[in-house]
Amino acid sequence: EEMLLRLRARLEAGDRALDMVQAAVIEMEDSGLFNAGRGARANQAGNIELDAAIMDGATLNAGGVAAVSLVKNPIAAARVIMERSPHVLMVGPGAEALLESRGMVLTEPAYFLNSAFNIEDVPMPADLEVVQPADDVPSDLTKFLGMWSGLWAGAVHQVVVVETIDENGGQLVFAQGSKESWGITEGSWERVQFRVADGEIRFKRLKEDGSVRAKVRFRLNEDGALSTSYEFSGGTVEGTLQRRPAAMDGGDDDKGGTVGAVALDRCGNLAAAVSTGGFGTKMPGRVGDSPIVGAGLYAKNGVAAVAATGHGEYFLRLVVAHKIIVLMEAAGLSLEDAASRVIGEELPDLGGKGGIIAVDAQGRVFMPFNTDGMVRGAVGHDVPMRVEVYAPN
Ligand code: ASP
Repeated sequence: EEMLLRLRARLEAGDRALDMVQAAVIEMEDSGLFNAGRGARANQAGNIELDAAIMDGATLNAGGVAAVSLVKNPIAAARVIMERSPHVLMVGPGAEALLESRGMVLTEPAYFLNSAFNIEDVPMPADLEVVQPADDVPSDLTKFLGMWSGLWAGAVHQVVVVETIDENGGQLVFAQGSKESWGITEGSWERVQFRVADGEIRFKRLKEDGSVRAKVRFRLNEDGALSTSYEFSGGTVEGTLQRRPAAMDGGDDDKGGTVGAVALDRCGNLAAAVSTGGFGTKMPGRVGDSPIVGAGLYAKNGVAAVAATGHGEYFLRLVVAHKIIVLMEAAGLSLEDAASRVIGEELPDLGGKGGIIAVDAQGRVFMPFNTDGMVRGAVGHDVPMRVEVYAPN
Protein backbone atom coordinates (compact mmCIF):
# COMPACT_ATOMS: atom_id res chain seq x y z
CA GLU A 1 0.00 0.00 0.00
CA GLU A 2 2.81 2.37 0.84
CA MET A 3 4.41 1.68 -2.49
CA LEU A 4 1.14 2.41 -4.28
CA LEU A 5 0.78 5.72 -2.44
CA ARG A 6 4.32 6.69 -3.40
CA LEU A 7 3.56 5.78 -6.99
CA ARG A 8 0.34 7.77 -6.98
CA ALA A 9 2.26 10.84 -5.84
CA ARG A 10 4.71 10.37 -8.68
CA LEU A 11 1.92 9.83 -11.18
CA GLU A 12 0.23 13.03 -10.09
CA ALA A 13 3.53 14.88 -10.30
CA GLY A 14 3.60 13.96 -13.98
CA ASP A 15 6.04 11.06 -14.06
CA ARG A 16 6.16 9.03 -17.27
CA ALA A 17 4.51 5.61 -17.36
CA LEU A 18 7.84 4.03 -18.28
CA ASP A 19 9.57 5.46 -15.20
CA MET A 20 6.66 4.48 -13.00
CA VAL A 21 6.67 0.82 -13.99
CA GLN A 22 10.43 0.65 -13.59
CA ALA A 23 10.29 2.28 -10.15
CA ALA A 24 7.55 -0.08 -9.00
CA VAL A 25 9.42 -3.16 -10.15
CA ILE A 26 12.74 -1.99 -8.66
CA GLU A 27 11.04 -1.54 -5.31
CA MET A 28 9.69 -5.09 -5.47
CA GLU A 29 13.01 -6.50 -6.68
CA ASP A 30 14.84 -4.85 -3.79
CA SER A 31 12.34 -5.92 -1.14
CA GLY A 32 13.43 -9.54 -1.10
CA LEU A 33 9.76 -10.45 -0.66
CA PHE A 34 9.16 -11.70 -4.18
CA ASN A 35 10.69 -14.13 -6.60
CA ALA A 36 12.51 -11.37 -8.43
CA GLY A 37 15.70 -9.44 -7.81
CA ARG A 38 17.04 -10.00 -4.32
CA GLY A 39 14.44 -12.58 -3.32
CA ALA A 40 14.70 -14.63 -6.51
CA ARG A 41 14.65 -18.40 -6.25
CA ALA A 42 17.61 -20.48 -7.30
CA ASN A 43 17.04 -22.93 -10.16
CA GLN A 44 17.45 -26.71 -9.97
CA ALA A 45 21.23 -26.37 -9.98
CA GLY A 46 21.17 -23.82 -7.18
CA ASN A 47 21.91 -20.89 -9.44
CA ILE A 48 20.11 -17.59 -9.72
CA GLU A 49 18.99 -16.86 -13.28
CA LEU A 50 16.84 -13.79 -13.67
CA ASP A 51 14.55 -12.66 -16.48
CA ALA A 52 12.99 -9.23 -16.96
CA ALA A 53 11.64 -6.92 -19.63
CA ILE A 54 10.21 -3.46 -20.05
CA MET A 55 8.14 -1.96 -22.87
CA ASP A 56 7.24 1.58 -23.80
CA GLY A 57 3.80 1.78 -25.37
CA ALA A 58 4.51 5.19 -26.90
CA THR A 59 7.32 3.98 -29.17
CA LEU A 60 6.99 0.18 -28.97
CA ASN A 61 10.58 0.18 -27.79
CA ALA A 62 11.40 -2.73 -25.55
CA GLY A 63 14.32 -4.25 -23.72
CA GLY A 64 14.88 -7.47 -21.83
CA VAL A 65 17.44 -9.63 -20.10
CA ALA A 66 17.29 -13.37 -19.56
CA ALA A 67 19.29 -15.77 -17.42
CA VAL A 68 21.40 -13.05 -15.83
CA SER A 69 23.02 -13.93 -12.52
CA LEU A 70 24.81 -10.89 -11.19
CA VAL A 71 22.29 -8.14 -11.80
CA LYS A 72 20.62 -6.59 -8.76
CA ASN A 73 17.81 -4.98 -10.69
CA PRO A 74 17.07 -6.86 -13.89
CA ILE A 75 14.38 -4.33 -14.78
CA ALA A 76 16.93 -1.51 -14.78
CA ALA A 77 19.11 -3.76 -16.95
CA ALA A 78 16.21 -4.24 -19.36
CA ARG A 79 15.86 -0.48 -19.60
CA VAL A 80 19.58 -0.14 -20.38
CA ILE A 81 19.27 -2.76 -23.15
CA MET A 82 16.29 -0.86 -24.53
CA GLU A 83 17.84 2.58 -24.46
CA ARG A 84 21.56 2.03 -24.67
CA SER A 85 22.06 -0.93 -26.97
CA PRO A 86 20.88 -1.70 -30.48
CA HIS A 87 19.22 -4.89 -29.19
CA VAL A 88 15.99 -5.90 -27.52
CA LEU A 89 16.88 -9.07 -25.62
CA MET A 90 20.22 -10.15 -24.22
CA VAL A 91 21.09 -13.20 -22.15
CA GLY A 92 23.60 -14.43 -19.60
CA PRO A 93 27.21 -13.30 -19.47
CA GLY A 94 26.91 -11.36 -22.74
CA ALA A 95 24.17 -9.26 -21.23
CA GLU A 96 26.20 -8.72 -18.08
CA ALA A 97 29.26 -7.67 -20.06
CA LEU A 98 27.20 -5.13 -21.97
CA LEU A 99 25.63 -3.80 -18.78
CA GLU A 100 29.05 -3.39 -17.20
CA SER A 101 30.26 -1.55 -20.26
CA ARG A 102 27.31 0.81 -19.80
CA GLY A 103 28.36 1.55 -16.25
CA MET A 104 26.13 -0.83 -14.35
CA VAL A 105 27.84 -2.30 -11.30
CA LEU A 106 27.29 -6.03 -11.13
CA THR A 107 26.67 -7.62 -7.77
CA GLU A 108 27.96 -10.69 -6.01
CA PRO A 109 26.12 -14.02 -5.77
CA ALA A 110 25.75 -13.56 -2.02
CA TYR A 111 23.42 -10.63 -2.64
CA PHE A 112 20.55 -12.95 -3.51
CA LEU A 113 18.77 -14.29 -0.47
CA ASN A 114 17.83 -17.62 -1.97
CA SER A 115 21.01 -18.29 -3.83
CA ALA A 116 22.87 -21.15 -2.36
CA PHE A 117 24.02 -24.61 -3.09
CA ASN A 118 25.07 -27.61 -1.19
CA ILE A 119 28.82 -27.66 -0.86
CA GLU A 120 29.06 -31.36 -1.59
CA ASP A 121 27.74 -30.67 -5.07
CA VAL A 122 30.21 -27.95 -6.00
CA PRO A 123 32.78 -29.11 -8.55
CA MET A 124 36.11 -27.98 -7.16
CA PRO A 125 39.40 -27.39 -8.94
CA ALA A 126 41.34 -30.64 -9.26
CA ASP A 127 44.56 -29.17 -7.90
CA LEU A 128 43.10 -27.87 -4.67
CA GLU A 129 44.95 -29.34 -1.71
CA VAL A 130 43.52 -28.92 1.74
CA VAL A 131 46.02 -28.87 4.58
CA GLN A 132 44.82 -30.00 7.98
CA PRO A 133 45.03 -27.26 10.58
CA ALA A 134 47.32 -27.57 13.58
CA ASP A 135 46.00 -29.26 16.74
CA ASP A 136 46.65 -26.39 19.11
CA VAL A 137 43.88 -24.15 17.92
CA PRO A 138 41.96 -22.29 20.60
CA SER A 139 38.61 -23.95 21.13
CA ASP A 140 36.52 -20.89 20.40
CA LEU A 141 38.05 -20.86 16.96
CA THR A 142 37.71 -24.52 16.20
CA LYS A 143 34.30 -23.86 14.76
CA PHE A 144 36.03 -22.27 11.82
CA LEU A 145 38.22 -25.27 11.21
CA GLY A 146 37.84 -26.91 7.90
CA MET A 147 34.99 -24.54 7.35
CA TRP A 148 33.46 -24.88 3.96
CA SER A 149 31.25 -22.14 2.88
CA GLY A 150 29.97 -20.83 -0.35
CA LEU A 151 28.88 -17.68 -2.04
CA TRP A 152 27.27 -19.51 -4.85
CA ALA A 153 24.72 -18.44 -7.29
CA GLY A 154 24.61 -17.93 -10.97
CA ALA A 155 28.20 -16.93 -11.40
CA VAL A 156 30.97 -18.92 -9.85
CA HIS A 157 30.82 -21.35 -7.00
CA GLN A 158 33.08 -19.87 -4.40
CA VAL A 159 34.32 -21.83 -1.44
CA VAL A 160 36.46 -21.01 1.55
CA VAL A 161 38.54 -23.68 3.22
CA VAL A 162 40.47 -22.88 6.37
CA GLU A 163 43.91 -24.51 6.21
CA THR A 164 45.76 -23.26 9.25
CA ILE A 165 44.49 -21.26 12.14
CA ASP A 166 45.69 -19.90 15.48
CA GLU A 167 44.35 -17.22 17.75
CA ASN A 168 45.51 -14.46 15.45
CA GLY A 169 44.58 -15.81 12.12
CA GLY A 170 45.87 -18.22 9.58
CA GLN A 171 45.69 -19.24 6.02
CA LEU A 172 42.74 -20.16 3.90
CA VAL A 173 41.93 -21.10 0.38
CA PHE A 174 39.41 -19.09 -1.52
CA ALA A 175 38.34 -21.29 -4.40
CA GLN A 176 36.12 -20.85 -7.40
CA GLY A 177 34.52 -23.99 -8.69
CA SER A 178 34.00 -24.65 -12.35
CA LYS A 179 31.08 -23.12 -14.17
CA GLU A 180 31.16 -23.85 -17.84
CA SER A 181 28.68 -21.23 -18.90
CA TRP A 182 31.10 -18.67 -17.49
CA GLY A 183 34.03 -20.10 -19.34
CA ILE A 184 35.58 -21.36 -16.12
CA THR A 185 35.99 -25.04 -16.72
CA GLU A 186 38.96 -25.76 -14.49
CA GLY A 187 38.19 -23.74 -11.44
CA SER A 188 40.84 -21.71 -9.67
CA TRP A 189 41.90 -20.83 -6.18
CA GLU A 190 43.88 -18.33 -4.17
CA ARG A 191 45.64 -18.95 -0.88
CA VAL A 192 45.19 -15.95 1.39
CA GLN A 193 46.10 -14.91 4.90
CA PHE A 194 43.30 -14.10 7.28
CA ARG A 195 43.00 -12.51 10.63
CA VAL A 196 40.59 -13.46 13.39
CA ALA A 197 39.04 -10.50 15.14
CA ASP A 198 35.86 -10.32 17.21
CA GLY A 199 34.93 -13.84 16.26
CA GLU A 200 35.17 -13.09 12.58
CA ILE A 201 37.48 -14.21 9.85
CA ARG A 202 38.65 -11.28 7.76
CA PHE A 203 40.74 -11.35 4.66
CA LYS A 204 41.54 -9.43 1.54
CA ARG A 205 41.46 -10.77 -1.97
CA LEU A 206 44.17 -9.13 -4.01
CA LYS A 207 44.43 -8.48 -7.71
CA GLU A 208 47.53 -9.46 -9.62
CA ASP A 209 48.98 -5.98 -9.25
CA GLY A 210 48.63 -6.23 -5.47
CA SER A 211 45.67 -3.87 -5.14
CA VAL A 212 42.64 -4.98 -3.14
CA ARG A 213 39.94 -6.77 -5.10
CA ALA A 214 37.64 -7.31 -2.14
CA LYS A 215 37.54 -7.34 1.63
CA VAL A 216 35.73 -10.39 2.93
CA ARG A 217 34.39 -11.24 6.37
CA PHE A 218 32.79 -14.41 7.67
CA ARG A 219 31.02 -14.95 10.96
CA LEU A 220 29.66 -18.32 11.95
CA ASN A 221 26.24 -17.99 13.60
CA GLU A 222 24.93 -20.20 16.36
CA ASP A 223 22.50 -21.89 14.01
CA GLY A 224 25.38 -22.94 11.74
CA ALA A 225 24.60 -20.39 9.06
CA LEU A 226 27.40 -18.14 7.96
CA SER A 227 27.09 -14.37 7.75
CA THR A 228 29.21 -12.88 5.03
CA SER A 229 30.24 -9.46 3.98
CA TYR A 230 31.92 -8.88 0.66
CA GLU A 231 33.17 -5.36 0.10
CA PHE A 232 34.31 -4.58 -3.42
CA SER A 233 34.39 -1.67 -5.83
CA GLY A 234 30.67 -2.03 -6.40
CA GLY A 235 29.75 -1.66 -2.74
CA THR A 236 29.24 -4.06 0.12
CA VAL A 237 27.14 -7.16 -0.14
CA GLU A 238 25.94 -8.75 3.08
CA GLY A 239 24.63 -12.25 2.95
CA THR A 240 23.78 -15.30 4.98
CA LEU A 241 24.86 -18.65 3.71
CA GLN A 242 23.28 -21.92 4.65
CA ARG A 243 24.32 -25.35 3.64
CA ARG A 244 20.92 -26.32 2.38
CA PRO A 245 18.73 -23.32 1.94
CA ALA A 246 14.98 -23.24 2.06
CA ALA A 247 14.89 -22.49 -1.65
CA MET A 248 16.26 -25.95 -2.37
CA ASP A 249 13.77 -27.73 -0.18
CA GLY A 250 10.88 -27.62 -2.58
CA GLY A 251 7.78 -26.41 -0.80
CA ASP A 252 7.12 -22.95 -2.10
CA ASP A 253 8.99 -23.45 -5.31
CA ASP A 254 6.07 -23.32 -7.64
CA LYS A 255 4.22 -20.52 -5.98
CA GLY A 256 5.44 -17.90 -8.43
CA GLY A 257 6.16 -14.49 -7.08
CA THR A 258 7.02 -12.81 -10.35
CA VAL A 259 6.55 -9.06 -10.15
CA GLY A 260 5.10 -6.76 -12.77
CA ALA A 261 3.71 -3.28 -13.24
CA VAL A 262 1.64 -1.48 -15.85
CA ALA A 263 0.93 2.24 -16.01
CA LEU A 264 -0.97 4.89 -17.91
CA ASP A 265 0.40 8.39 -17.39
CA ARG A 266 -1.18 11.82 -17.72
CA CYS A 267 -0.03 12.09 -21.33
CA GLY A 268 -1.73 8.84 -22.29
CA ASN A 269 1.46 6.82 -22.45
CA LEU A 270 1.27 3.16 -21.50
CA ALA A 271 4.12 0.99 -20.25
CA ALA A 272 4.64 -2.49 -18.86
CA ALA A 273 7.43 -4.18 -16.89
CA VAL A 274 7.99 -7.70 -15.57
CA SER A 275 10.78 -9.26 -13.49
CA THR A 276 11.21 -12.81 -12.22
CA GLY A 277 13.47 -15.53 -10.96
CA GLY A 278 11.30 -18.02 -12.86
CA PHE A 279 10.57 -20.89 -10.52
CA GLY A 280 12.74 -23.02 -8.28
CA THR A 281 12.26 -26.16 -10.27
CA LYS A 282 13.39 -24.64 -13.54
CA MET A 283 16.35 -26.20 -15.33
CA PRO A 284 19.54 -24.20 -15.84
CA GLY A 285 19.20 -22.15 -18.99
CA ARG A 286 15.42 -22.18 -19.00
CA VAL A 287 13.83 -18.88 -19.98
CA GLY A 288 10.17 -18.16 -19.37
CA ASP A 289 7.70 -15.70 -20.79
CA SER A 290 8.66 -12.78 -18.59
CA PRO A 291 11.47 -11.31 -20.72
CA ILE A 292 9.70 -12.09 -24.00
CA VAL A 293 7.87 -9.18 -25.56
CA GLY A 294 4.41 -10.37 -26.55
CA ALA A 295 4.30 -13.33 -24.17
CA GLY A 296 5.04 -11.88 -20.73
CA LEU A 297 4.27 -8.26 -21.44
CA TYR A 298 3.13 -5.78 -24.04
CA ALA A 299 2.26 -2.09 -24.13
CA LYS A 300 0.81 -0.03 -26.92
CA ASN A 301 -0.47 3.50 -26.59
CA GLY A 302 -4.14 3.80 -27.45
CA VAL A 303 -4.75 0.15 -26.58
CA ALA A 304 -3.43 -1.30 -23.29
CA ALA A 305 -0.46 -2.37 -21.21
CA VAL A 306 -0.31 -5.96 -20.00
CA ALA A 307 2.09 -7.76 -17.64
CA ALA A 308 1.78 -11.48 -16.99
CA THR A 309 2.66 -14.01 -14.33
CA GLY A 310 2.15 -17.73 -14.36
CA HIS A 311 3.45 -20.87 -15.95
CA GLY A 312 5.66 -19.27 -18.58
CA GLU A 313 5.65 -22.15 -21.02
CA TYR A 314 1.93 -21.65 -21.63
CA PHE A 315 2.20 -17.88 -21.85
CA LEU A 316 4.89 -18.31 -24.47
CA ARG A 317 2.83 -20.71 -26.53
CA LEU A 318 -0.24 -18.49 -26.46
CA VAL A 319 1.73 -15.23 -26.77
CA VAL A 320 -0.63 -14.06 -24.06
CA ALA A 321 0.12 -10.36 -23.67
CA HIS A 322 0.16 -9.54 -27.35
CA LYS A 323 -2.88 -11.69 -28.01
CA ILE A 324 -4.90 -9.55 -25.63
CA ILE A 325 -3.70 -6.43 -27.41
CA VAL A 326 -4.60 -7.89 -30.82
CA LEU A 327 -8.05 -8.96 -29.66
CA MET A 328 -8.65 -5.40 -28.52
CA GLU A 329 -7.12 -3.68 -31.51
CA ALA A 330 -8.18 -5.89 -34.39
CA ALA A 331 -11.32 -7.53 -33.03
CA GLY A 332 -12.54 -4.51 -31.08
CA LEU A 333 -12.91 -6.35 -27.76
CA SER A 334 -12.72 -4.48 -24.49
CA LEU A 335 -9.75 -5.19 -22.20
CA GLU A 336 -12.05 -7.16 -19.95
CA ASP A 337 -13.43 -9.31 -22.76
CA ALA A 338 -10.07 -9.86 -24.42
CA ALA A 339 -8.30 -10.75 -21.16
CA SER A 340 -11.17 -12.95 -19.97
CA ARG A 341 -11.01 -14.90 -23.17
CA VAL A 342 -7.26 -15.48 -22.99
CA ILE A 343 -6.84 -15.96 -19.23
CA GLY A 344 -10.26 -17.44 -18.50
CA GLU A 345 -10.63 -19.73 -21.52
CA GLU A 346 -7.62 -20.25 -23.79
CA LEU A 347 -5.02 -20.58 -21.05
CA PRO A 348 -6.93 -23.13 -18.96
CA ASP A 349 -7.96 -25.00 -22.11
CA LEU A 350 -4.29 -25.57 -22.79
CA GLY A 351 -3.68 -26.50 -19.17
CA GLY A 352 -1.91 -23.28 -18.18
CA LYS A 353 -2.23 -21.32 -14.98
CA GLY A 354 -1.52 -17.70 -14.28
CA GLY A 355 -2.83 -14.20 -14.56
CA ILE A 356 -2.20 -10.70 -15.80
CA ILE A 357 -2.38 -7.13 -14.62
CA ALA A 358 -3.52 -4.70 -17.29
CA VAL A 359 -4.68 -1.16 -17.85
CA ASP A 360 -6.28 0.14 -21.03
CA ALA A 361 -5.89 3.52 -22.70
CA GLN A 362 -8.90 4.85 -20.77
CA GLY A 363 -7.40 3.84 -17.43
CA ARG A 364 -9.62 0.83 -16.85
CA VAL A 365 -7.77 -1.72 -14.74
CA PHE A 366 -8.34 -5.46 -15.10
CA MET A 367 -6.31 -8.09 -13.23
CA PRO A 368 -7.71 -11.56 -13.88
CA PHE A 369 -6.08 -14.87 -12.93
CA ASN A 370 -7.08 -18.51 -13.03
CA THR A 371 -5.01 -19.61 -10.02
CA ASP A 372 -5.89 -19.70 -6.33
CA GLY A 373 -4.64 -16.20 -5.82
CA MET A 374 -2.56 -13.34 -7.08
CA VAL A 375 -1.31 -10.41 -5.05
CA ARG A 376 -2.16 -7.23 -6.89
CA GLY A 377 -2.89 -3.61 -6.28
CA ALA A 378 -3.97 -0.60 -8.26
CA VAL A 379 -3.91 3.11 -7.70
CA GLY A 380 -4.71 6.13 -9.78
CA HIS A 381 -5.60 9.77 -9.78
CA ASP A 382 -9.17 10.01 -8.48
CA VAL A 383 -9.26 6.22 -8.23
CA PRO A 384 -9.52 4.62 -4.82
CA MET A 385 -6.59 2.38 -4.01
CA ARG A 386 -7.14 -1.36 -4.40
CA VAL A 387 -4.95 -3.99 -2.83
CA GLU A 388 -6.11 -7.54 -3.33
CA VAL A 389 -4.37 -10.65 -2.28
CA TYR A 390 -6.50 -13.69 -2.84
CA ALA A 391 -9.72 -11.94 -3.77
CA PRO A 392 -11.62 -13.69 -6.54
CA ASN A 393 -12.38 -11.79 -9.70
N1 ASP B 1 6.09 -16.44 -15.64
C1 ASP B 1 7.25 -16.79 -14.87
C2 ASP B 1 8.07 -17.77 -15.62
O1 ASP B 1 7.52 -18.69 -16.20
C3 ASP B 1 6.96 -17.38 -13.55
C4 ASP B 1 5.86 -16.74 -12.75
O2 ASP B 1 5.30 -15.75 -13.17
O3 ASP B 1 5.55 -17.26 -11.67
O4 ASP B 1 9.27 -17.66 -15.57
